[in-house]
Amino acid sequence: MATDLQRLKQSIPLLEYLQRHNWRPRRAATRQEFVGLCPLHQETRPSFYVNAAKNLFYCHGCGRGGDLIRFAQLFLDLPFRQTVAYLEQQLMPVPPTQLLEQTAAFYRLQLHRHAEAVRYLEHRGLQDPAVIEELGIGYAPGGNLRGNLAASGYSFDLLLEMGLINHQGRDAFCRRVIFPCRHHGHIVNLYGRSIGTAFPHRLLPRSKGGLFAWASVSCFSTVILVEGLFDLAVLWQAGFRNTTCAIGSHLTPAQWAQLSDSPRRSVYVVFDQDENQAGQQASRQLAQRLQAAGIAARIVQLPAGHDPNSYFAAGATAADFAACLRQAQRL
Ligand SMILES: [Zn+2]
Repeated sequence: MATDLQRLKQSIPLLEYLQRHNWRPRRAATRQEFVGLCPLHQETRPSFYVNAAKNLFYCHGCGRGGDLIRFAQLFLDLPFRQTVAYLEQQLMPVPPTQLLEQTAAFYRLQLHRHAEAVRYLEHRGLQDPAVIEELGIGYAPGGNLRGNLAASGYSFDLLLEMGLINHQGRDAFCRRVIFPCRHHGHIVNLYGRSIGTAFPHRLLPRSKGGLFAWASVSCFSTVILVEGLFDLAVLWQAGFRNTTCAIGSHLTPAQWAQLSDSPRRSVYVVFDQDENQAGQQASRQLAQRLQAAGIAARIVQLPAGHDPNSYFAAGATAADFAACLRQAQRL
């Protein structure tokens, strides 16, 4: 969390943020210090100082000062965590939506043309065509994305910059099941699960967006949070449509702001049970953080060695999982 905030502040220099909001310094006090009218209160003589090197401001008129987040919080009149989420969104480059939509559509078409991909979904316990379609799941067989997109006029450099191909022009996603990640309706990233021997998880080198499918999940008063998209897929298939996913056990500030935006919500955390205890530790920390924010949190225990996906793939039913939810203890 602290490092995320540090990164956020470094990514948006305070002076640049102020200038984007039409603040014009009247004069420079020193090489790094600028003075102008205070954007936070009415004044006619400049008393608002910005130190560009330290990324700090102070107003001698209203006595307020601090860093970028403090300024944005006062300027926008928002609580701390919503301010952070807002700034995170400012950082996200405008998503090249069309390119990602076209890539995801191309991968969707490949899914049923490659028996190994369909077999892999079955092996992970996912068979319902309606859920597969709704999640927009596709398959990247490798070796043909560039040619397909070049025909639509996308340049080599853009595909390379997006992380869809490598310097040799080969597909970055190869032999991977693809899930498009949407934020406010737009695809902002693609997650690819290797079906072969490559490293299991891959995302494009850009923000993973908010919580998965949050637009349809946020209306539930009880939410199930899982680590992986295959966990989410089998839970949706079993009827638990109130399941969302952080793609990993670490929530970004934007995801945290979503999950904690309503005190009436209660959250079931169902992370993986790892041998090195990483998942268990992450779920405990998250549950404690939720409790501290006034949100009821429960940690769900599955039978030893199982995550939601492997539990269903091994034959568990919706009733079995519902029993695990009932047994989950509040902290
Ligand atoms: Zn002021």
